[in-house]
Amino acid sequence: MAELERVTIQEASYRLNLSQAEIRRYIREGRLQATREGGPRDRTWMVELPDEGWLDDDKARYHEMAEGMPVWWWPTEAKTGIAHYILDVGIEETVPVYLCGLVSDNLWAVSRLTEDQCCPICLKLAREQGLPLNLD
Ligand SMILES: [Zn+2]
Repeated sequence: MAELERVTIQEASYRLNLSQAEIRRYIREGRLQATREGGPRDRTWMVELPDEGWLDDDKARYHEMAEGMPVWWWPTEAKTGIAHYILDVGIEETVPVYLCGLVSDNLWAVSRLTEDQCCPICLKLAREQGLPLNLD
């Protein structure tokens, strides 16, 4: 396990992509660990940066919402090759556009998938955006 990194609220806000108000709220709620450091006059809150799997409210909601929903799809009926990523297949969407930009006529849900069957571009983008991968 990595050593805990302590940063200021400003730095935590930047690193966790949350507002400083949210950081302070999370500290109050005990969802982020923080300690006051420094001398009697210049005390500052130092926030322990959480592990990578730590989720803020929005991401947690997103994961809950997407749980059990297929996000990987085959672009062809043969269901072979690589699968691509679509988080939300809206019923109004007639032409599926995958995360990587690929367009196909139709899509077929993938039931079981390992990482090496995923489109590497879709996988990379989904990871960068913190989207649920729903991989086995
Ligand atoms: Zn793709």
